Amino acid sequence: MAPDTRHPDKLDRAVIFLGPPGAGKGTQAKELAKRYGVPHLSTGDMLREHVSKVTPLGKEAKPIMERGDLVPDSLVLRMVRERIERPDCSHGFVFDGFPRTVAQAQYLGVLLRQHGYRPPLVVHFALDPALVLRRITGRRMCKAGGEIYNIYERPPKVEGRCDSDGGELEQRPDDREEIVGPRLQAYEKQTAPLVAYYRRLGRLHDVDASKSVEEVTQRVLEIVRGARQPAH
Ligand code: ADP
Ligand code: AMP
Repeated sequence: MAPDTRHPDKLDRAVIFLGPPGAGKGTQAKELAKRYGVPHLSTGDMLREHVSKVTPLGKEAKPIMERGDLVPDSLVLRMVRERIERPDCSHGFVFDGFPRTVAQAQYLGVLLRQHGYRPPLVVHFALDPALVLRRITGRRMCKAGGEIYNIYERPPKVEGRCDSDGGELEQRPDDREEIVGPRLQAYEKQTAPLVAYYRRLGRLHDVDASKSVEEVTQRVLEIVRGARQPAH
């Protein structure tokens, strides 16, 4: 029987994974969410689903995402509010790729207070920009289940196929080398200021994202468990 990897404690809060594209947020958010049995909320995944279903939001977001810019705050905020109001979020959730602007962070603060959550725990994935290109251009995702691979660092057992369900692996359109520059610029200009924002609030914990997946998972768990200790 497979070991039960769910953590016995409840998360009972919002955890935010902050960091540049390719830092490993999605990989770690899936793991943490699985261990605590809470939803993994990736605004990128939600937006890609809208794009693939050709919803009005998807039609608006598609060209913006394809050129590596950020989707307007108003669209993302409505989507997030609707998502965290669903009952499966009542014991906490892990945000990956949200918030991405100071306005999003401010709105999230209000939303969490309104819904009776404690202030968020923010994990900052620091990655040398020199490593970002390899992480992003090597990324492949399972079309069906969303599992994340890397052809250089974490290849699947069978080329082009997901280890879990045998599904086809694909490259995201915005993971092409020419879109990496604009995405990093958007990060530096609009999202990096959140590092100082959350540090000032005393919410930020740093992780060296260049370490192995297993080492990063251990560090994230230490942070989450440490934050669970009552203050003395
Ligand atoms: P993000 O969500 O921050 O954009 P991902 O979790 O999708 O990042 O990871 C980006 C790429 O890097 C993926 O191909 C993933 O398999 C790979 N990756 C993630 N974490 C590590 C790590 N610690 N070491 C090496 N490769 C990693
Ligand atoms: P990600 O999967 O997190 O790399 O996001 C992919 C793309 O979706 C980004 O480059 C943006 O265009 C868009 N996106 C995802 N999350 C947000 C957000 N919180 N705010 C604005 N745009 C977002």
